[in-house]
Amino acid sequence: MINYQEILDKIYNEVYAEQYRGKVADYIPALARVPVDKFGMAICTIDGREFIVGDAHENFSIQSISKVFTLTLAIDKAADTLWQRVGREPSGNRFNSLVQLEYENGIPRNPFINAGAIVVTDSIFEGIGKTKNNILRFVRELSNNQTISFDEEVAESERIYGDRNRALANFIRSYGNLNHAADDVLDVYFHQCAIPMSCIDLARGFLFLANKGFSPIANKQILNIRQAKRINSLMITCGLYDAVGDFVYRVGLPGKSGVGGGILAIIPNQLVVAVWSPGLNEAGNSLLGTLALELFTTYASNSIF
Ligand code: GLN
Repeated sequence: MINYQEILDKIYNEVYAEQYRGKVADYIPALARVPVDKFGMAICTIDGREFIVGDAHENFSIQSISKVFTLTLAIDKAADTLWQRVGREPSGNRFNSLVQLEYENGIPRNPFINAGAIVVTDSIFEGIGKTKNNILRFVRELSNNQTISFDEEVAESERIYGDRNRALANFIRSYGNLNHAADDVLDVYFHQCAIPMSCIDLARGFLFLANKGFSPIANKQILNIRQAKRINSLMITCGLYDAVGDFVYRVGLPGKSGVGGGILAIIPNQLVVAVWSPGLNEAGNSLLGTLALELFTTYASNSIF
């Protein structure tokens, strides 16, 4: 049996020796205050074992990792129309880019770039308050943590500095691909990004993706096997924006990142691993988080390949 604790401890020591840790996201000022030297990692296996190292219990802003939660809700509720409104191809552009939207007529390339996630949130929209509650209830249930809530300060910071996301939402709406008012959908989107969670919360919360759609934490079938396969596949091709090729090359797993410095990765039928290091690379993905996951699959000789 692989000794995951030994591997995590080894990774922790190696990562701490790194001189350059990347740059904390500062385009959302509330995120710029997070100390760059934080590092945590957690593993949850589908048979109930958990391993942690460093700041694995400390909350950070999940940011774009929330796009996996909302896609999960949408795939279950709005699947018939969803794929007419959002594509399934890697974008090759930054996560908040506008360029493709015009020549692709307001259909975002995939659900994990900002434009796509805004459409996904629109597809599950049932009023601002209700949609926010639905998301929160879902995340709490999946992670078995009723204390998870929105960080209003981060959400407000995203709103104030959200001109680019407002541009995206309004542009999409001009093509008829947003059914609700742009500011209402963005209110929910900013809040879903501003959920603070820890590595252990995330590793528990996404166990259903490693376990054919069944969450051992919530003791519930969240998605069917085919739906779970599809979300994992989308993470392989689109989960780390325009750096997804490099990530999959190095790590060999489906993953999803956020500008809070978190990355979550799945080994199907085995485990979820979540890592947090707030310093980002140029693509907006955690620099040392990517390195830690690369070391993880290397030392464990365990990936999907
Ligand atoms: N809230 C961030 C944004 O909309 C999420 C981006 C990310 O994590 N990549 O810009």
